Amino acid sequence: MNHNLLEKYAEFIVRVGVNVQPGQTLIINGNLETAPLARLCMKAAFAAGARDVRVDWADEACSRIRMEMGSEEALTDVKPYVLRSYLDFAESEGGVCVLHLLADDPEVYNGLDAAKINRVSMARRTALKPWRVYTMNDKIQWCIAAMPSESWAKMIFPNEPIDVAVEKLWNAIFDVCRVTDGDPVTAWKAHLDRLNGLKDKMNAYDFESVHFTSSNGTDLTVGLADGAIWESASSPNEKGVMFLPNIPTEEVFTAPHKDKVNGIVYGTKPYAYNGQLIKGFHVTFKDGRVVEHGAEENADLLGELLDSDAGARSIGEVALVPASSPINRSGLLFYNTLFDENAACHIAFGASYPGTCKGGKDMTEEEMLAHGMNQSEIHEDVMVGAEDTNITGLTRDGRTIQIFENGEWVL
Ligand code: ZN
Ligand code: ZN
Repeated sequence: MNHNLLEKYAEFIVRVGVNVQPGQTLIINGNLETAPLARLCMKAAFAAGARDVRVDWADEACSRIRMEMGSEEALTDVKPYVLRSYLDFAESEGGVCVLHLLADDPEVYNGLDAAKINRVSMARRTALKPWRVYTMNDKIQWCIAAMPSESWAKMIFPNEPIDVAVEKLWNAIFDVCRVTDGDPVTAWKAHLDRLNGLKDKMNAYDFESVHFTSSNGTDLTVGLADGAIWESASSPNEKGVMFLPNIPTEEVFTAPHKDKVNGIVYGTKPYAYNGQLIKGFHVTFKDGRVVEHGAEENADLLGELLDSDAGARSIGEVALVPASSPINRSGLLFYNTLFDENAACHIAFGASYPGTCKGGKDMTEEEMLAHGMNQSEIHEDVMVGAEDTNITGLTRDGRTIQIFENGEWVL
């Protein structure tokens, strides 16, 4: 991999992605494989004035052994210090920002008990909820970016020798993250301007619902939450500091109304959930809830996902991504939501983002529910956009507007 581009990538992640501010502590979460990128991000963060940088390492092999051999009782017993290790920084002067560096093996938990994995992961989510409020509500800057690991690269390029596969994945990541030309900051400015323009147009129409159809059988009407706002890539935190939650990002998204989604939708890419793959799935909605579902592979896992909690059978996000997105055009399946969700229109089972509703960031859970904003401990994006997806919008004053034709924006 080109070291010069790696430095540019790290700079971009820290300066534009998480946008570390002087005096803040940066927490980096990453697998051991991400060390080369984490070190460069740490340097860039100190150079940007960070007070301190803490790195929380994980090792996927250890995580798998623990998931396989640890008792469920122990694995669901999340000690309070884990939460405090984040809140102590979030509540302190100067504050905190957080960067997740991914190099995940999409099938790390392949063959293990899906129900146990789900309960363990739900226990952790529940224990960390007070911390998640900081990121879901954009109180602090947060960012997710990725780099190759051997296991991940091998999955995408199974026929290549491992070093070739890793190199190819680096090139793919640099390409779709707009790093290859050597000036990601400028490339992203133009990209964000375009996404913001589309978002503004969507908001100006004041849609009540959007309707998806495609030749694979998808016919889905998504009613929008009361006061729903279309958002794009960049968000401000509560102090007005702009950041990019996801690198890369191609989506314009908002909050569905949790009771007003009807019809059937077919998945168009496999979905990696809790270290296993759900393939060829479909779900049928009635009045906002999934009433029927199936999958060619791992249908049980999809069932586990939908039974995670009371809100998991409804969706909290609908996102529009054109088929011409660089991730889709790469022709690669990344087996990683950060990339695959930016290759296709998607919906997310579980929680909505408070920022996708007018005044949502200041609402209580009850107020959000009253606006139709779904609540759950999970937020799982699944890809449903096809090359021939058509989307129309129904405005609150009764007009039908064509939004997508054959997978592309026509606004
Ligand atoms: Zn999304
Ligand atoms: Zn999402």
